[in-house]
Amino acid sequence: MLDADLLAARFAGKAQPLKAALLDQRNIAGLGNIYVCEALWRAGLSPLKPAGAVVDAKGRPRKTLVLLMEAIRAVIADAIAAGGSSLRDHIQTDGTLGYFQHSFSVYDREGEPCRKPGCGGTVERIVQAGRSTFYCPRCQK
Ligand SMILES: [Zn+2]
Repeated sequence: MLDADLLAARFAGKAQPLKAALLDQRNIAGLGNIYVCEALWRAGLSPLKPAGAVVDAKGRPRKTLVLLMEAIRAVIADAIAAGGSSLRDHIQTDGTLGYFQHSFSVYDREGEPCRKPGCGGTVERIVQAGRSTFYCPRCQK
């Protein structure tokens, strides 16, 4: 599912914002809105960056894409450690999120200080393709 070379091939030349490209089920299956927001924050990447910008001229993953893949894996691992055995386990039968909601770094934190040490930025919310995106404009480039 999470392969940097495969994603590089899909993102190459795309002007579509990185956030939207990551939510596109044709690129990666099953990555939810919260996980994408959290992973982009961890990787220090702007959700507005064109997807093609994380791919080099030869169609290979840039360092930024490799870091993003590591961030996605880390977010998923943390979510599982926080109480679920898979991503879907975090949606309870009543529609609320599970334990992971208490450990969000950026999601649903609009107007609050960025938690990255030394950043000093403020989390903002924007809407992309009809979904809320939470990010820190100071440290996510
Ligand atoms: Zn920040």
